[in-house]
Amino acid sequence: MTEPAWRSDFPLLANRRDMVYLDNAATTQKPKAVLDALARYYRGTNANVHRGAHRLSDEATAAFEAARETLARRINARSSREVLWTRGTTEAINLVAAAHGPLAVGDGDRILITEMEHHSNIVPWQQLCQRTGAVLKAARVLPSGEIDRDDFAAKLEEQPRIVSISHVSNALGTVNDLSSLVPSAKAVGATVVVDGAQAVAHFDIDVQALGCDFYAFSGHKMYGPTGIGVLYGREELLEEMPPWQSGGEMIERVRIEETTYATLPFKFEAGTPDISGAIGLAAAVDYLDDLDGEAIEAHEASLLAYASASLNQVEGLRIVGTARAKGPVVSFLLDGSHPHDVGTLLDQQGVAVRTGHHCAMPLMDALGVAGTVRASFSLYNSLEDIDKLSGAVRTARTML
Ligand code: PLP
Repeated sequence: MTEPAWRSDFPLLANRRDMVYLDNAATTQKPKAVLDALARYYRGTNANVHRGAHRLSDEATAAFEAARETLARRINARSSREVLWTRGTTEAINLVAAAHGPLAVGDGDRILITEMEHHSNIVPWQQLCQRTGAVLKAARVLPSGEIDRDDFAAKLEEQPRIVSISHVSNALGTVNDLSSLVPSAKAVGATVVVDGAQAVAHFDIDVQALGCDFYAFSGHKMYGPTGIGVLYGREELLEEMPPWQSGGEMIERVRIEETTYATLPFKFEAGTPDISGAIGLAAAVDYLDDLDGEAIEAHEASLLAYASASLNQVEGLRIVGTARAKGPVVSFLLDGSHPHDVGTLLDQQGVAVRTGHHCAMPLMDALGVAGTVRASFSLYNSLEDIDKLSGAVRTARTML
């Protein structure tokens, strides 16, 4: 068995041969191209953006705005004005809830999510409900880990003003069929928000084809740096939303009596942004653009199939989440043992996975489990990595 060609692009994997990294849904490792872009920026271009009277600032601004163009192209936004830099998915969803939420919902209005959401796609909506009197509803999840479409349809009949759903479940890997979910939510007039945190590393995203109003994602889950992410928003909606944070950078003219705001996208970017993060994320996109997306998808699908088959052969192991369409994630339980204990035993054998509720407690409640062990794969993982995982799980079983 050979290692995927891409593996050698990731220095950490060569530096840490003591472990197999299978916690990619939490964060991915960074290719050399991203590390180099960060170093190049700090060594040769570092200055504050949008305000300089000198050439270094102009260069930093040009690189920062070129990064926005790169991201806009990657997700097929109509314009880079629709690409807002955020700290990540969490901040992006908070931005929508804070700035669009009160325009969309009032007392008694419905907001619809699903039981499979990450806490960052639940709690901001709860807070919006507390502020406005809106009511949060969650479509049920079936034991397979798929959205119960009958329940989703029934809850759409209540005409929610906002529908916010994940593209891919971080806990189970379920890929939600946005090609039917988004149009059905748009048909009742809802604003549609997609949490794309777990999709961007694995699939090409086309926000226009998806037809959603907002799409949120994190750079660090797609080989970019931590601390940077994107909120895509439809320009008409962004135009009518008030700023959500205020200060420098987001203004046009400030008087003590009143302030007028900058145009898009700057209206939503108060303060010095994460300049290097944006440039690093654009480097990650350039890196991905240079690879064969279909080959990566096929590779990750083969990792998923191989892992599912080999783990299914371990006695007493149950895979949680058996959706037909899955990203490269396998969540599982070992009979009679706590996921944390399994995780510790795997770590002792050099296999890094995530254990617990995966920031999806309502999903765990719906499935009747306290948590799971989650192995999540990436383009640099190999079939040998999965052999090590299943070997370590078998050994762990004998020790529990
Ligand atoms: N949504 C999903 C589906 C996630 O998997 C995560 C992170 O694990 C988030 C949102 C939050 O992302 P971040 O912590 O980068 O803001």
